[in-house]
Amino acid sequence: MTTSLDDFSLLVDLHGPSDLTRLPAHRSPLDATDSKLAEVLAPYDFAEPYPCGLAACRQPHQHGFLVVTVDGVETNVGKDCGRRIFGEDFAIKANIQAARASRKRQLDTLQGVLDHKEELLSRISELYDRKTGTRWANAELRSLKEHPLLHFPSNKLYAMATRGETEVIDVREATKEEKEQHRAFNPGAKSLEYTEETVGHLQGLKFLVANPHDTATVLKDKLYELTDTDAKSLSPKKLRDWVNWANGIEREFDDIEDTLANAVRFLSAENIGLLHALAAIEERNRR
Ligand SMILES: [Zn+2]
Repeated sequence: MTTSLDDFSLLVDLHGPSDLTRLPAHRSPLDATDSKLAEVLAPYDFAEPYPCGLAACRQPHQHGFLVVTVDGVETNVGKDCGRRIFGEDFAIKANIQAARASRKRQLDTLQGVLDHKEELLSRISELYDRKTGTRWANAELRSLKEHPLLHFPSNKLYAMATRGETEVIDVREATKEEKEQHRAFNPGAKSLEYTEETVGHLQGLKFLVANPHDTATVLKDKLYELTDTDAKSLSPKKLRDWVNWANGIEREFDDIEDTLANAVRFLSAENIGLLHALAAIEERNRR
């Protein structure tokens, strides 16, 4: 047995009990008291506990290892019972195989991304170029900010977007009826001069605090960077960072889709009308 973490030759993919029972050399229960451990082959993490292959144990283990004895018989054991029956040799070998399995999973994840690289790149191109895609969203936002008729109340809008607020409120002079009603319900209180009124709710403000075009571009750049990266030579931390990124790719696509849907809502005629109203209110409040 070599000690290289990149030696995956003994590993077996074990997703459930049927992956154990279909192995020709698998025996359970195995009376291993006279038998010596040859190798720990692979760790497993099943969804449900499964009875131990050792006759001396038979407890259900959810997490365990597939082992092979010097007689060529394979069985599944738990971490503690494996050590009890096979000694320290088991613990050492189990640790190495667990580390190899975890490393193989990480490398496989990155390879899986590379295997789908062309598909991912064409999804990004489609996001760039579709009718209401990221290029469109960028251009619309720019022209909105430069719109000569609309004093784009950016600060106010960005603050609202960050806080998750949507309500556009106007303050107007209270009507005669409102003043009378206020007096009737609040005897002795200060008289009502002004009242607040909800003009409407802004749509798709999230679009302002996300940049779908940049998000898509970063995703594309990372795909090319990964292509030029030798994953096996990465430090454990860098490898983990790449795997986390890979596992988040679909979430990034979802975020871009979500932002684009918000852009469509933000740029609807109704919402632009409300933006004009908000701009007018802000303008008046400043005076
Ligand atoms: Zn056991």
